[in-house]
Amino acid sequence: MSDHDHDHDHDGHDHADGSRFSDVELRVKALETLLTRKGLVDPATIDRLVETYETRIGPRNGARVVARAWADPAYKVRLLQDATAAIAELGYTGLQGEHMVAVENTPQIHNLVVCTLCSCYPWPVLGLPPVWYKSYAYRSKAVIDPRGVLAEFGLTLGPDVEVRVWDSTAEIRYLVLPERPAGSAGLDEDALAELVSRDSMIGVTRARNPGARS
Ligand code: FE
Repeated sequence: MSDHDHDHDHDGHDHADGSRFSDVELRVKALETLLTRKGLVDPATIDRLVETYETRIGPRNGARVVARAWADPAYKVRLLQDATAAIAELGYTGLQGEHMVAVENTPQIHNLVVCTLCSCYPWPVLGLPPVWYKSYAYRSKAVIDPRGVLAEFGLTLGPDVEVRVWDSTAEIRYLVLPERPAGSAGLDEDALAELVSRDSMIGVTRARNPGARS
């Protein structure tokens, strides 16, 4: 890498070299072409994966699960007993979500999810992991100093709250069930889901209060 500034590459207009594509896009295209020529990947499969994760899968799936658990006590019991099955009830299944465990935040317990080894993450409910989740800084500090990590995300917990850190693996992926925010009593599931951010399901923030900016 040169020390040339690539910040201009985020836009869609033509670049100095006349290409419609950014550096990253060109590199990805080069890799895809190479892998296809060598017979290692099928371009149609890649297209399908990208389309799936861009449009059908993502943190909104997890938000639907959380909203259902807040609205339906029987569903919440099933979610905490067998998250894989309860999540599949809503139609969310697939790769990297075969063995799900839901952990519930309460006034006394706050759960935080990390993958200390790499970046294991529950794709069917949260989509693809954010960059910081994969960073060495997060992976190491979440275990050594979880309260410090939470503070960096703007969440300061009292000393009376127990912080539980869950290390994801290839076998088990975790979904945090955030506390239902105060003032959300009258909301239906759609409105409840709007309060649930990706970060709150990793456990680095709380769910949003109704009326707070998203
Ligand atoms: Fe991992």
